[in-house]
Amino acid sequence: MTAAERPNKHNPSTMAFASQAVHAGNAIDSGSGAIRTPIVMANSYALPEDASTISWSGTDVPLYTRNSGANQLGLQAKLATLEHGEDAVVLASGVAALHAVFFTVLKSGDHVVVGDVTYEAIYRLFAELLPEKYGITATFVDAADPEAVRAAIRPDTALVHVEVIGNPTTKVTDIAAVAAIAHEASALLSVDSTFTPPPLFRPLEHGADLVVHSLTKYINGHGDAMGGAVIGRSDLVRRIKGDAMVDVGGVISPFNAWLIMRGSVTLPLRLAQHSASAQRIAEFLAADPRVAFVAYPGLAAHPQHDLAARQFEGRGFGGMLAFAVTGDSATQDRFVANLRVITSAVSLGHDESLVVHVAGGADAGPRVAYYPEEFRTFGHLRLSVGLEDADDLLADVEAALDATLGAAPDSRDAEATTP
Ligand SMILES: *Cc1c(COP(=O)(O)O)cnc(C)c1O
Repeated sequence: MTAAERPNKHNPSTMAFASQAVHAGNAIDSGSGAIRTPIVMANSYALPEDASTISWSGTDVPLYTRNSGANQLGLQAKLATLEHGEDAVVLASGVAALHAVFFTVLKSGDHVVVGDVTYEAIYRLFAELLPEKYGITATFVDAADPEAVRAAIRPDTALVHVEVIGNPTTKVTDIAAVAAIAHEASALLSVDSTFTPPPLFRPLEHGADLVVHSLTKYINGHGDAMGGAVIGRSDLVRRIKGDAMVDVGGVISPFNAWLIMRGSVTLPLRLAQHSASAQRIAEFLAADPRVAFVAYPGLAAHPQHDLAARQFEGRGFGGMLAFAVTGDSATQDRFVANLRVITSAVSLGHDESLVVHVAGGADAGPRVAYYPEEFRTFGHLRLSVGLEDADDLLADVEAALDATLGAAPDSRDAEATTP
């Protein structure tokens, strides 16, 4: 092995993913000698003796914490490395990062093609706020169908925005196909990859121009800090830093950047466990006659299972699933109340398993019109499978089913013997 090939933590591109997750963006602190970048709680940084060389709106050297801070810079370097992007910008939340993309690349009169099952706040931005305030129009399409994306493109389409795995339907988008369609029309493609962080999937390698993460979720992974990131080509990320970070704000606190830096160290280990446990729980639910439906891309019956298997290349299908038990909305609530390990709370990608019941039907708001029929009939339970022992999670789900709906008609053991 030559010196050039040898893995070196000072040059993260020489290392494999798990090593990058540990070392990228970290540096020995020159002041204290600490081997981890300390939390730098400062709003302002010393200027050089000759300040005439300084760009007051620069974002590469710490100057003022709204332009960049030490902890933010380290986290940005790490995320660019992990996503194989040229540059990254970190902001205060996932929604701040998504808004930063839209604010920077769109102008009045532009048209956007948006997946019809995106994060709630994004639906509202494109359905109400951006059209009313800025005259930006949007067409909502089933992003799992590339031909629907193609049909929605107009001469004034500037951006296509999709989620890799839709929240909460788990519909999967073919990122390479949608990227080709967007680029044929000279539009940009931004991809929310919060459900599929690296190494599971890297949208930039499949043609996306920008990838967005809610760092609040899997990348931090411990449910104790909010953050968001945009990663992509340096010309685009530079514009986002200048327009949406320096001039709009929404910067991350040094403490949250530090927490996310620490949480992300174990990302590859956690992600493998989330995927393995979610696959087991999805298979268990799919085999139980008391369960009305299960949506998880790792199940052979999922409508985009083959695409997901191809796109994620055997690295798993993530930790998010949606299902409902047979019965009405009150039955779903009783099932949740009967859980003893899984916590009823919003958010996802935490160490603890989280479930949230969202009712179907007209009361649940306009976005539900875009959900698959079973979601509208039964409502859904969105389950973020955590890092507890998978046997405990399965036992919790089974005991809650028994308590809510009575014992299963057939013994599951007998069922498991039939193919
Ligand atoms: C949570 C989430 C967001 C928003 O992130 P915040 O950090 O809560 O602002 C965006 N997209 C997806 C897919 C999410 O799950």
